[in-house]
Amino acid sequence: MANKKFKTEVNDLLHLIIHSLYSNREIFLRELISNASDAIDKLRYLSLTDEKLKGLFTEGKIEINFDEKAKTLTISDNGIGMNEEDLNNNLGTIASSGTKKFLETLTDEQKKDSNLIGQFGVGFYSAFMVAKRVDVISRKAGEEEGFKWSSDGSSTYSVEPAERAEHGTTLILTMNEDGENYANRWQLENLIKKYSDHVAYPIFLEYDQDSYTDEKDKDGNPIKKTEHKREQINSSSALWRRNKSEIKEEEYKEFYKNFCHDSEDPLFYLHNHVEGATEYTTLFYIPAKAPFDMNHADYKPGVKLYVKRVYITDDEKELLPTYLRFVRGIIDSEDLPLNVSREILQENKIMATIRNGSVKKLLGEFKKLSENNPEKYEKFIKEYNRPLKEGLYNDWANRDTLLELVRYKSSEVEGYTSLAAYKERMKADQKSIYYISGGKESVLKASPLISAYRKNGYEVLVMDEDIDDIVTGMIGTYKDLPLKDIKKSSSADDLKDESTKDEKESKQDVEKLSKLLGERVKKVIASKRLTDSPAIIIMDENDPSMQMQQILKQMGGADELDDIKPILEVNTEHPVFKKIMEAEEEEAKELSSLVLDQAYLAEGIMPKDPVAFAQNVSKLLAK
Ligand code: ADP
Repeated sequence: MANKKFKTEVNDLLHLIIHSLYSNREIFLRELISNASDAIDKLRYLSLTDEKLKGLFTEGKIEINFDEKAKTLTISDNGIGMNEEDLNNNLGTIASSGTKKFLETLTDEQKKDSNLIGQFGVGFYSAFMVAKRVDVISRKAGEEEGFKWSSDGSSTYSVEPAERAEHGTTLILTMNEDGENYANRWQLENLIKKYSDHVAYPIFLEYDQDSYTDEKDKDGNPIKKTEHKREQINSSSALWRRNKSEIKEEEYKEFYKNFCHDSEDPLFYLHNHVEGATEYTTLFYIPAKAPFDMNHADYKPGVKLYVKRVYITDDEKELLPTYLRFVRGIIDSEDLPLNVSREILQENKIMATIRNGSVKKLLGEFKKLSENNPEKYEKFIKEYNRPLKEGLYNDWANRDTLLELVRYKSSEVEGYTSLAAYKERMKADQKSIYYISGGKESVLKASPLISAYRKNGYEVLVMDEDIDDIVTGMIGTYKDLPLKDIKKSSSADDLKDESTKDEKESKQDVEKLSKLLGERVKKVIASKRLTDSPAIIIMDENDPSMQMQQILKQMGGADELDDIKPILEVNTEHPVFKKIMEAEEEEAKELSSLVLDQAYLAEGIMPKDPVAFAQNVSKLLAK
């Protein structure tokens, strides 16, 4: 038996694998099972298309057994098998031309970089991470002779004739020191479940099980009995790879509960197979209740990545954008290499295509749901309105779709409204979408501004989520309609001026108040909008709202926030102004102070000097 030399690139690859993937060597089993599954796939396909092979495919199966004493592990399949030429071509050289080209471009320095190895599938050769010798006994489907390929993973291998009863391939791994502990039942079971649970063919594990019988030996000890067992380990149901039309709703739900460890049915799911430049399958679920860690910075991503049914990772936050972190399910790619690493995923073009496609699909499905099933959509919004709003902030490319998906409370309707429905209800002369934000719903809805707008026939969106403050200002426009915060200075002229007070008089009031309040406000303006209340606080166009300032302060409060002063918009027709104008300097100061402080309170915000406020109120009460 003549020893043959590996092609140089195999040597390079072997070296790379053994030295760079070392810390992750348990993946060898996944790689070998995946090869076995591919071989069965091939035979299944050929038995349908090739006359010669018709009827050869019966039931695909993968058998795994081990010898704890001899430290060997055997992986056997009844797939397409290999003849002498195949063994030489496939296991003596590198089968994938992409891998070969890639290897050629690497410098010696790069070859030491373990990240780079993620760019191609390591496949069969990963066996040498755990084995000091690998024997491959194979017989090609439709041929009579079998062959055995052997190598110790150094620079040579051999091929010789061998017996094999049936077509298919058997790998015998003689484990090295590092691999020894993989030749036991629990390790194997664990690895098969972890990485290959959804491989479409059953994976059987053979093992001996000891148990004690009721019979006793002469010393009275129970007699041990050893049974040989053979058990299917994987669930072999890659549900997502089956045809949509063949899967019952119940099956989808059961799968979800098992797969995502949820006791409740999902709100809905979407299952898609995409063909074209990149081929992949996605099965996404939307949980009925938002995952408990959805708003934690260290949330656990809910989408698992598979490559050709082989599990790759469940800890990759890049599979979907962060704002879709509540989505659960699977992405199964046909084109990614099995050993794709995190660094590669983030830059990989295929992954980017899958990710963009998945986002479009998900958003499209949300949109459909909102149109076809408003009740269910309301449930969806109750859980996920907030992350969708984050999307408005982060995902510019899908801004238009997201704008149709987010919902807001409103001065006019119960529950939630869409921007489209708001637009539909708008008066003909209305040029902007009005909203009020910052604060609790009850506080916002009680704002005197809202009643002023309503009186003019304008609906006001009530944005009571903390994220609204940050996001809404950025949206700019919806279908060319600017979104306008009614508590910002640019909105002061929104409404028809209904004041009857003489302009000059009103100006005097404002000037006096301005002097009395001094540095405590940015400026005082005469309101054209207020009717019943004396004053409100609004913010200059580019200043953060009061609530935003509080949030920023809590986050490690910048001192310069104290320099941001509000604008006091005053209703000079209110009787309090007559009092202020007529009062002595001291009393006028107290009254104007009260006007400002009650405006703070109406915002749900503490007056700047609560003690002084309390004293002023007491004084007033005593009068
Ligand atoms: P890859 O699977 O990425 O092509 P491998 O190095 O794992 O690379 O395998 C090289 C080739 O060897 C495969 O493409 C396949 O043709 C062949 N091969 C490997 N394992 C088997 C098997 N169990 N049965 C049949 N052919 C196999």
